Amino acid sequence: MRHIESVDEMKAVCREITRSGRTLGFVPTMGALHEGHASLVRASRAQCKATAVSIFVNPLQFGPTEDLDKYPRAMERDSRLLQELGVDVLFAPTVAEMYTPGATTYVEVSEISNRLDGVSRPGHFRGVATVVAKLFEIVRPDRAFFGQKDAAQVAVLRRMVRDLAMDVQLVVCPILREKDGLAMSSRNVYLSAVERKEALVLNRALMRVQHAADAGERDVARLIETGKSVIAEEPGARLDYFAIVDPDALEAVSDISRGALVAVAAYVGSTRLIDNLLLTAR
Ligand code: AMP
Repeated sequence: MRHIESVDEMKAVCREITRSGRTLGFVPTMGALHEGHASLVRASRAQCKATAVSIFVNPLQFGPTEDLDKYPRAMERDSRLLQELGVDVLFAPTVAEMYTPGATTYVEVSEISNRLDGVSRPGHFRGVATVVAKLFEIVRPDRAFFGQKDAAQVAVLRRMVRDLAMDVQLVVCPILREKDGLAMSSRNVYLSAVERKEALVLNRALMRVQHAADAGERDVARLIETGKSVIAEEPGARLDYFAIVDPDALEAVSDISRGALVAVAAYVGSTRLIDNLLLTAR
């Protein structure tokens, strides 16, 4: 596995791969890797001849009071894991390398970036879209792999790729969970043992909504109430949002018959966690 920090070198190596006729898969991450990330790498390895992974804790997507400084970093362990997974290229640039001093260009996917997580994290999706657009330009992958875990991010990036006619296919992979149902996340390391148990309430709320929908409940307001009431039963959790939306536009739906995204965000202690499920058309 090549370990590259320079943008120019990364471009050269990726061009070499594509010029040799190999399909290139790309998995962007912020590191502190877990099985969720590994599942994206495995999907890329299965679908593409070569796989590049980036590890970059992107300051642009963190708000001024968020966890940029304490975000977990584990480069040596990550690098070993990626090597074992058969990754061809690891791109881990510094902030100065990614953002040339004086850089003033941003990618703004308007409207949709102000929904779900965009409400309590203003500017977050501008940071995500800007870094992913730049990474796509550096790597120029045939396919890029993202997790359904970050459902709003997927919607924003799909829109960006469509609106800017980017030549990349997005592949969305299912949410990997711990045995007890907690969605895997690099941020789970922040949770104390008590909080770790309290955090299960997110998945529990989603499952309750799934069961209600399976049992024939069609009223979206009542489904949302069901989810919110489960969160309210856990004093250790503070709800940010519980929403049922169109998975592409992230706008509230009044009817789940054509399928819908059920998404939740809540603070457990000071850790903000997200989870979601897709209701299928019925
Ligand atoms: P992150 O390092 O948190 O920016 O995540 C990098 C990629 O891994 C994103 O596309 C995430 O959606 C994806 N990812 C994170 N957690 C999971 C998970 N539990 N299951 C599947 N994909 C995930």
